[in-house]
Amino acid sequence: MPEFVDRSPPGECIFCRIVRGELPAAKVHEDALTLAFMDIGQVTPGHVLVASKRHAATLLDLTREEAGAVMQTAQRMAQAQQAAFAPDGITLLQANGAAGGQTVAHFHLHVVARHTGDGVSFAWPRQEPGAGVIAGYAQQLRAALD
Ligand SMILES: [Zn+2]
Repeated sequence: MPEFVDRSPPGECIFCRIVRGELPAAKVHEDALTLAFMDIGQVTPGHVLVASKRHAATLLDLTREEAGAVMQTAQRMAQAQQAAFAPDGITLLQANGAAGGQTVAHFHLHVVARHTGDGVSFAWPRQEPGAGVIAGYAQQLRAALD
């Protein structure tokens, strides 16, 4: 799979430049907080990205308002994909940090129309550590909530 990695500094990244209109993109939707545009690397026809308009590197850097706006735009993109491309399913993918698979350090969420047998796959190394361990993980997360 060809992988593009943008190493531009914050504010000069390719998505900031698309938001400012300095780079061309096939825009689908724009509102005060989000911009939706076609991914130049179409995994399937209709593959669209929803980005925050403000430069925020990851999900952790979005405001709660931006996070909500991104999901609302993603839902609208999914509904448009369903109407326009009649996929069998739709996958949302959002990566954070290099270890998470993020290649452009400006928050974005992929909305991918899926078709049976489309060849898209994910490695998902499922583990079942047991109820006690899982309960401990839940306690760690509850204690970390702000
Ligand atoms: Zn940016």
